[in-house]
This record gives sequence, structure tokens and C-alpha cells, in this order.
Amino acid sequence: MAIDTALGLYVHVPFCSAICNYCNFNRGLFEAGLKDRYVDALIAEIRGAATYESADTVFFGGGTPSLLEPREIARIIAACRESFALAEHSEITLETNPETSSLERMEQFRAAGVNRVSFGVQSFREEELKRLGRIHTADRARAAVQEARTAGIVNISLDLMMWLPQQTREHWSDSVESLIEVAPEHASLYLLELYPNAPLKEDMARAGWSLAPDDDAAEMYLWSMDRLERAGYWQYEISNVARAGREARHNLKYWRDGQWLGFGCGAHSTRDGVRWKNVSATEEYVTRVLAGASLRAEERRLSPRERMEDALFTGLRLTEGVDLTDVRHRYGVDVMAAYGESLAPHLASGLLVREGDRLRLTRSGMLLANEILQVFV
Ligand code: SF4
Repeated sequence: MAIDTALGLYVHVPFCSAICNYCNFNRGLFEAGLKDRYVDALIAEIRGAATYESADTVFFGGGTPSLLEPREIARIIAACRESFALAEHSEITLETNPETSSLERMEQFRAAGVNRVSFGVQSFREEELKRLGRIHTADRARAAVQEARTAGIVNISLDLMMWLPQQTREHWSDSVESLIEVAPEHASLYLLELYPNAPLKEDMARAGWSLAPDDDAAEMYLWSMDRLERAGYWQYEISNVARAGREARHNLKYWRDGQWLGFGCGAHSTRDGVRWKNVSATEEYVTRVLAGASLRAEERRLSPRERMEDALFTGLRLTEGVDLTDVRHRYGVDVMAAYGESLAPHLASGLLVREGDRLRLTRSGMLLANEILQVFV
């Protein structure tokens, strides 16, 4: 595992123009007044955390960060530059929903410093977008990508979701083929996860929509990874593919045992073995920033053992896997001696492989990653 010492900066923007029926993120409906106060609070939080250390990624996540005005994004990036030594070629990502996007806004976001855009497309089929409560169309998504390109954004990522209600393997392959036509540099393919009270569950019950059998979901996953590989992408993580050199540098910090600071309501941070999370509610966050009160809702110092287990848990999500020698040097633990017995059945069944000093999941192992990685939880 390569050691990445520069910090990643995550900025949470909790506003959306509509709430999707499957979404369990920390978000709420857009309110202009609250948004203005929130941006000021974010900037105050970033300045208050100034350490002037090296950082080389900024990730605006949400929510829908593209609901902020480009000049607000510019102010936040400026606060990051004042407070950290932000490298010249930093990756600055803006999560964007196709419905909020236009050529003019893309040009302004680019001028503000954004150099990577991640579009929440989810599907290229209209009926699937409607079932998910998304307010964009497939054509709007295609146009949004084109606008970003025209605006000079050369690093574009798309999110797609598989295993949607009523989705067949053919429907899924339609979306993957459309993605290949649109030709982003990076794509994230997520399996729909239905949390217990998701309104989508009620919609499904009411409309009689069902999910394809588990075996179909597994085939969808394996087929799409093969197909994307043939189209020139490489799978570098369980759910992520990229053109060579276009892997998400910010997210790699999460998977390669890196360090990051999160700003905004509900944002998580990890550094020097301490993990913390800011208060989740937007109003409370703003009030606390104004009052100069602590923003931390949770904080935990991980033991060296927990840090190592975490590094294995996240590192094995990568197709490169983890370097066992490196783990031994960093944490003083021989992974095979400590976990060999639990890992042996997975090695024997070909879900895990050991190549020299690297341990990694195979593609079929990735399908069962949650189960296999429990060894480290
Ligand atoms: S746009 Fe994204 S963050 Fe907002 S409600 Fe939909 S899924 Fe959730």
C-alpha cells in the first residue's frame, strides 16, 4: 500500500433540490438563507482548522454541492488554500447532479478551481430514474457531461446504480453501454442498498416492483466489470473503474490508509489515529460554528490494532490489495500469522489470493467482500 502523506480535504454540502426515495445521506432540501449561513460557517471552520500542512485533494460531496454558487465554491477553495498548503496540481472534485448543471455554471466552477466533476447519473433509463425519484432525464445527463467537457473539465466521473427495482440484466447493460458512449474518465458502480425505512421500499410495495434475484445481481456486477475493462477502463476498487491515471485521488486516501479532514455537518475526519465526526444537523452545525463551540459529535482514538484492521478492511477493497510487508512495518503485525486461520478458507476457494507479499480479493471475492472482510472488523 503506497503511503500518501498529503491530507485530503472533504467539504460537505447538505442541500438537494429534491430528496431521492432511496437516499440515506446527510442532506435536506435547499433553503437559500440557510445555505448562505452554512457557507460562512464552512469557511470559518476551515480557517479555524488551519495547519498549513500539505493537502492535495478537495472533495465537495453531499447532498448536491453544485447547488452552491460558483463564487461560493471559489470562496471555500480560497479558504482551503489559505489554511493548508494546497498543492498546485490538487484534485478538486465537485459532485454534481445533472439537473443543476449548465455550460455557464460549469465554466464558472472551472474558473473557481474545480478540475474534476462527479455526476450522479444513476441510470440512463427514464423509467429507472423516475422510480428512484430522480429529477433529471438520461438526455440531460448526457448533455451535462458534454457541457462539462466544453467547459474544459477533463476529468469526469459518473455514478451508476445497479440492482434497481424492476431492473433486468438487459436494462443494466443498456446503462453501462450508454456510459461507455459518454466516455467519462472514471465511473462508480454501486449496488442499490435499501435502508430499513427508505420510502423507495414503500413505493416498491405499492407498485409491486421487485429486485432481480441475487444471482442476477452478481452477474450484472461481473459482466459490467468485464465490459468496462474491454472498453479501456480498469477496475481499481470494488465499485470503481477508471482510465489509467484517472483513479479518484481523494478516495484513494480512504482506501490507502491516508489522512483527511472533513468540514461541514456530519463530515468525518481521520488523522493520527483519531477519528471524529461533526454534528449532523445543519442548523446545529451553523450555530456551533458561530458560538465557537466544539463541532465534534463523536471522537475516537483507535488502538494500533484497530488502525491496522481498518487499513486491511479498506485496503482490500482495492484490486492492488494490501502489501503485507508494509503492514508489518507500519503496525508490527504479521497478518498471516494473526488472521491466517480465518483467511485460509477464502484463499482455498479463490476469493482471496496471495501473490508474493500482496494479499488481494479476486473479482468473485469482491462480490463477497462484506463477508470476507468481517475478519478485520
Ligand atoms: S441528490 Fe443525492 S444526496 Fe440528494 S437526495 Fe438524491 S441521492 Fe441523496
